[in-house]
Amino acid sequence: MSPKFASCPICGQPSQMKTRPFCSDRCRDRDLLQWLGDGYRVPGAGVTEDAQKSSDYGVDSDPD
Ligand SMILES: [Zn+2]
Repeated sequence: MSPKFASCPICGQPSQMKTRPFCSDRCRDRDLLQWLGDGYRVPGAGVTEDAQKSSDYGVDSDPD
């Protein structure tokens, strides 16, 4: 059996059924925070940095 869930859009790991499309509650929260963060974006405060982060999630090692 190899369930073909999409990869977690946050970190790229296989999604878990109970948290899909994310792999964990943490990634789900992270995604939510990203959406919320959009509304709180401060003008001129590292918008490009955000974009870089999202492409770096594959190698991101969360200290938590
Ligand atoms: Zn994830």
